[in-house]
Amino acid sequence: MQAKYNRVLLKISGEALSGDKGHGYDVKELKAVAKQIASVAKLGVGVGVVVGGGNFWRGRQGDEMDRTTADYMGMLATVINALAVCDAIEKEGVEARVLTSMLISGIGEPFNYKVADRYLKEGKVVVFGGGTGNPYFTTDTGAALRAVE
Ligand code: UDP
Repeated sequence: MQAKYNRVLLKISGEALSGDKGHGYDVKELKAVAKQIASVAKLGVGVGVVVGGGNFWRGRQGDEMDRTTADYMGMLATVINALAVCDAIEKEGVEARVLTSMLISGIGEPFNYKVADRYLKEGKVVVFGGGTGNPYFTTDTGAALRAVE
């Protein structure tokens, strides 16, 4: 099959990974999402994936909390999901890398648009964790930024 686009950026909300449970993971959903992403990558399309964190935590849930702290917790939730999605994609036979908007040494690389571009050219799926890296935003804004960078 001939792909229409060379590159795509997909935004996955956290809840899309949790199926009917609405929180955490539904392993079948995670695998199904990864399978679709891998099948597109196997066509030679560069695939970037921005992952949300709503299956674990959204900043606005922290009623009594400092909003900035609550939002950073949400960003960390997106990084957990990025690791899960990356792992699931690799199980489908496609290499993937996690790039994060904040520095979390040991589990991913800090986002750099040139590194993302290189990985995409190498045929690796790039999974973006951490959203924009700023509180008071959501991963939808993160997706819009990554799509233009
Ligand atoms: N978040 C943030 N800045 C960002 C991206 C996310 O503060 O750039 C926090 C925010 O609290 C948000 C949570 O992380 O509610 C989870 O992200 P999002 O709500 O976008 O997840 P989704 O609804 O897509 O699962």
